[in-house]
Amino acid sequence: MGLFKKKAANNANAAQTPVAGINGQDLSALVLKSIREGVVIVGEDLNIKLANPMASVMLGRSTDELVGLNYDSNIILLDQSGNRVPENLNPISIAIRTGEVSEHRDLELLMNGSNKTTPISLIVVPTGQAGSAVVVTFRDIAKELAEERERTEFISTASHEMRTPVASIEGYLGLAMNPTTATIDARAMQYLNKAHESSQHLGRLFQDLLDTTRLDEGKIRTHMEPVELVSVVKQYADAQMPAIQAKGLTYQFGTSNSEKVTIAPVIYASIDRDFLQEILNNLIENAIKYTPAGSITVSVTADDYNVQIAVEDTGIGIPRDETEHIFQKFYRVDNSDTREIGGTGLGLALVKQRVELMGGKIWVESEQGKGSRFIVSLPRLTKEAYDQQRFLFENQQKMQESSQAHEQAVQAFMAGGAPTTDMAG
Ligand code: ADP
Repeated sequence: MGLFKKKAANNANAAQTPVAGINGQDLSALVLKSIREGVVIVGEDLNIKLANPMASVMLGRSTDELVGLNYDSNIILLDQSGNRVPENLNPISIAIRTGEVSEHRDLELLMNGSNKTTPISLIVVPTGQAGSAVVVTFRDIAKELAEERERTEFISTASHEMRTPVASIEGYLGLAMNPTTATIDARAMQYLNKAHESSQHLGRLFQDLLDTTRLDEGKIRTHMEPVELVSVVKQYADAQMPAIQAKGLTYQFGTSNSEKVTIAPVIYASIDRDFLQEILNNLIENAIKYTPAGSITVSVTADDYNVQIAVEDTGIGIPRDETEHIFQKFYRVDNSDTREIGGTGLGLALVKQRVELMGGKIWVESEQGKGSRFIVSLPRLTKEAYDQQRFLFENQQKMQESSQAHEQAVQAFMAGGAPTTDMAG
C-alpha cells in the first residue's frame, strides 16, 4: 500500500506534452475512453460523478445514466460467498470515510439488471483527506484467475505426489542411521545425517507447498468461531513456551517491549481455531529462529474496531527494504545473519493467507539488529455481536452433533440388519 501511495504521488506530477490537434482536457478524456479498466469517481455525497465507457460496459448502465446515481446501488460488490458486501465493509465507503487507498482481488462485480458477475481487481484511491471523493478503478480478472488456478493445481498435484517418495527416503535413512537396524561407520553417519536433514527439509517444503496451494485453491475452508480471544491466544502461545525456553530465550505474554499496552479483560473476535494456532506457531517459530538471545513477547490489544495480536522478538530484525517482500512465497532475506538459518520461505506466505481468510491483515515493524514485531489485526466483535454469534454457533454445533448421532444410529441399525418382525405390531 505504501508503494501504491508513492506511485500515486508520482503520477500527480506526471508530465504531459501537447499532442497535435488535441488539447489537454481532450487528451485526458481520450485516455479514460480508451483504457480497458472501468473508472468511476464517487463524490463525498456517495454519488457517481464520472464513469468511463468501460465502467458503463461492466456496470450495465450508460455513462450518462450512472452520473448522479448513488454508487452503492450501481457498483454492486459481492464477496467470495456471493453475498453483497454490506455498506460498512464496502471498500468504496471505507476509502471515503478514512481517506486511505485500498486494493482488492477477492470481490465480484454484479452487473445491473442481470445475474452476470465478474471477478474484479478493485483499487480505490481517495482524492484528498478523509471525507473526500474517491477514484475507483476495476478490471476483469477472470482469465488471470483461471490461469492462476491451473498453475496452483499443477503445483498442488506435484507436491502431493512428491511427498510419498520423500517420506520413504526419510524412513530408510532413519533405518540406516539406527544402530539397532544397521552398522555404519562414523564418516558414513555424518553423510547420512546431512542427507536426513535435507530430506526433512524437502518433506517440510512439499507440505508447505501443498498447504499454500490448497489455501489458494479454496480447498481449505475456514470454520469461524466467536471466541474470547485473549485466553485463546494465551493458550496457543503458552504451548510454545518450552521451545522458547529451550533456546534460552525468555517468554512473556501480555506486555509489549516497544510500547506500554494494557490487556482489556475480555476481547471478542471470530476466528478459525486451527488457523490461529498455525499462525501463532509459525510466528513464534520464526521469532525463536531469528533471535539469538533475548525475549519473545506475545500480546493482545484492541481498539473499538480491531484486535491486534503481536508477536515481538529482540532478534536480528529485518532490513527496512525487505519488509514488504517477506510475505511473498519463497522470499527469504539473504544476508550474513540469515544464511545459516534454515527455512523454506513459505511460512509467512501461509500465515498471510490464513490471516486474510479470517478477514484480517498482517504486517511487520522491524529494526535491523534490534528485533521484529509481527502484528495480526482482526475485526473485533462487540459483546452483543459475540453473544449473538456464540448462540448461533453453539446451536449449529448441537445440530451437527445430533445429525451425526442420527447418522451413526442409522448406520448401526443397517449393520445389524433390518428387523424381521413388524416393530409397530
Ligand atoms: P523461512 O522459512 O525462511 O523462515 P518465512 O516465510 O517464515 O520463511 O520468513 C521469510 C523471511 O522473513 C525469513 O527467511 C527471514 O529472513 C524473515 N523473517 C521472518 N520472521 C523473522 C523474524 N522474527 N525476525 C527476523 N527475520 C524474520
